[in-house]
Amino acid sequence: VINFAAGPAALPENVLLKAQSELYNWRGSGMSVMEMSHRGKEFLSIIQKAESDLRNLLAIPSDYSVLFLQGGATTQFASLPLNLCASSSDPADYVVTGSWGDKAFKEAQKYCNPSVVWSGKSEKYTKVPSFDGFEQNPHAKYLHICANETIHGVEFKDYPVPKNPNGVLIADMSSNFCSKPVDVSKFGVIYAGAQKNVGPSGVTIVIIRKDLIGKAREVTPVMLDYKIHDENSSLYNTPPCFGIYMCGLVFDDLLAQGGLEEVERKNQRKAKILYDAIDESGGFFRCPVEKSVRSLMNVPFTLERAELEGEFIKEAAKEKMVQLKGHRSVGGMRASIYNAMPLAGVEKLVAFMKEFQARHA
Ligand code: PLP
Repeated sequence: VINFAAGPAALPENVLLKAQSELYNWRGSGMSVMEMSHRGKEFLSIIQKAESDLRNLLAIPSDYSVLFLQGGATTQFASLPLNLCASSSDPADYVVTGSWGDKAFKEAQKYCNPSVVWSGKSEKYTKVPSFDGFEQNPHAKYLHICANETIHGVEFKDYPVPKNPNGVLIADMSSNFCSKPVDVSKFGVIYAGAQKNVGPSGVTIVIIRKDLIGKAREVTPVMLDYKIHDENSSLYNTPPCFGIYMCGLVFDDLLAQGGLEEVERKNQRKAKILYDAIDESGGFFRCPVEKSVRSLMNVPFTLERAELEGEFIKEAAKEKMVQLKGHRSVGGMRASIYNAMPLAGVEKLVAFMKEFQARHA
């Protein structure tokens, strides 16, 4: 099938075949990666290569740590204020461009004193603010954004700068991680659940500037303390070994494709074909998101005749194009076209859309 799921999402076929070929016996070790000690030399070589390949892909500066954690991106919503705010009265700023930014803000309310400095809610999360379009608290410990809102299909194309010279920018990159080059040095923390672009669910990647580590509040659970994971090279407790291994295979594949510049070129091409088909349908299909901030990864769209949406999804599934239903909170359709979606998959969807429109015009 052609799988347009928002996450867990399709992984590159060659990566899955590679994992299959070494499932029972990883490179002559006689063990599956699932059966290895996380402290043995075999797994250490896997996690070290995964980190080093990710560092190459994103050109991660040496003053940043890379952590392979658990608990999903959702756990980071709490870890961030617990590690970066010294007390529950410390201020933090949140730009809320969709549901995930909103969830991050709400969780932070338990651990610090966050403010929503801009919200796109009244415009149904179809925009990103201009960077002089909102006031920041000059004392905020950090400014939090969701770089790509998976449900609403809104993506930051550039990044705001925290007003507090001692504050940092933090981005949830769960749904556009490794989809394009990013200047990591602009951020204090980048975090991402793996299950969209880089692996199976169960792995959360945190890239954090080293001087931000070691400041967790005393009550911080050990599993949420960045210092514990950093000091133990992500091996404080048993990590999600197989998931990290899969992420490593994906990083290796992305490097083999020519790195993230090349990956971005492919993603731009796929997204353009799909958005053009929507925009050129004369209103039959619509994408509500402002053009300049449309996501390269998640493309939400509706039908002018909403009563046809169920039929569209059903008929697409018959053509083996699955998981096109929009998120339950917004309805309509959503095509997630992450790195692993081949161009041919998008072309097939576009051909189907044109044919569906011709039949219902
Ligand atoms: N942030 C974004 C942008 C997401 O798309 C998701 C999940 O789908 C999450 C956070 C939550 O991630 P997790 O399910 O790994 O906790």
